Amino acid sequence: MDDDIKKNIANLKPSATLAINEKIKQLLKDGKKVFNFGFGQSPFPIPEKIVSVLRDNAHKKDYLPMQGLPELREAISKYLLKRTGVDYKKENIIITPGSKEAMLLMHVVFNGEIILPAPSWVSYEPQAEIAKNKVHWIETTLDNNWFPTAKQLEDKINSIGKKNIILILNSPNNPSGSVCNNLNQIANVAKHNNIKILSDEIYTDLTFDKNYESISKFCPENTFISGGLSKWCGAGGWRLGFFAVPNGQKDFLNALKTLASESYSTVNSPLQFAAVEAYKGDYSDYLNKTRSILKLVGNYVFNNLKSNKILINPPKGAFYLMPEFLNSKFSSSAEMCDDIINKTGVALLPGSDFGFKSKKMLARLSYTDFDGDIFLKNINSGKKLDDDLVKKYAPNVVEGTNKLVEWSKTL
Ligand code: PMP
Ligand code: GLU
Repeated sequence: MDDDIKKNIANLKPSATLAINEKIKQLLKDGKKVFNFGFGQSPFPIPEKIVSVLRDNAHKKDYLPMQGLPELREAISKYLLKRTGVDYKKENIIITPGSKEAMLLMHVVFNGEIILPAPSWVSYEPQAEIAKNKVHWIETTLDNNWFPTAKQLEDKINSIGKKNIILILNSPNNPSGSVCNNLNQIANVAKHNNIKILSDEIYTDLTFDKNYESISKFCPENTFISGGLSKWCGAGGWRLGFFAVPNGQKDFLNALKTLASESYSTVNSPLQFAAVEAYKGDYSDYLNKTRSILKLVGNYVFNNLKSNKILINPPKGAFYLMPEFLNSKFSSSAEMCDDIINKTGVALLPGSDFGFKSKKMLARLSYTDFDGDIFLKNINSGKKLDDDLVKKYAPNVVEGTNKLVEWSKTL
């Protein structure tokens, strides 16, 4: 190994999500039949009005303020107030090229330790490693909805001792598709121990049955919120995110601003104008429809996949399910996923990418392999949504699910 690369960086490998995306694209290019349950990307188009505002602003060429366009920060402040009841003022919001970058900067700024529930999204741990923040895992269970209990959190904080701590929480969750039911209890532990929380709310507008629920409502003074356009607005490739800092954390905010100004300067100007429309406009009809489709497709996969060989929790939000395969003969979840893609063409990500021990036979399944544009055009609010629609407009999801069921019979 070259000694001109820092050890903590040399040990990293490219992000599992982006790597599977590229692997799938290559397989498709080679003419292979692939069921893309591997990459987590919204299948829906960006609402046309937002695209047209981007087009109208394509000529905007001047740099915007390093913290982001004030009008956009104001719109996000109102959006958060409406959803969380907490007043994150526009002065406390920073616009970032995707929320992923915001989280990385947060790790770079933060001097302390990170608590992650297993499962956690693939990038949290590597980002902590980049910034040399030590990670402590809390292993959750299916019975606890794949979220930590208040007691587990309290015990973990006690075991770490008197240090600065950030807990990262993501609900609805990537990869489990569950929604956290004990935000209040977790918030109480956080308040009592004076730890910070990063509430990753990138999927919270994609909560199927409940309203948008943010832990900030229970402990506003401890909660940072990250979010953006990637999931609810179908704009992953646009790379527009935000980070909201609680009142009373001015030094943290200023450090983030400095890092932003010394790295990406400011997010591209036309996009920030388009994002104002996304956050100010009323996209409830689009959201109701896209959520209904995701819920329908998620439940289709859940109902057809669960069996005495496959344990799985029902989908509650986002676009993921996390099946556990019983009686597996494989030595790791990665080996199991390799076998699945080789024998069936179904791409999944192994549970080990999400913080689980490699022997735990979990995998993440993203049920987004369908044309969301065509699906959206073929539902209307009056009509009941049923499995026939899934068969018609999400045939790859149906066929991939069947392949997985067949494969599981060999276990
Ligand atoms: N958090 C979670 C849980 C995610 O799945 C993603 C995936 N894009 C992100 C954050 C990052 O989102 P973005 O950088 O596109 O805002
Ligand atoms: N969030 C998506 C996923 O989990 C992919 C995008 C990314 O990782 O940045 O598959």
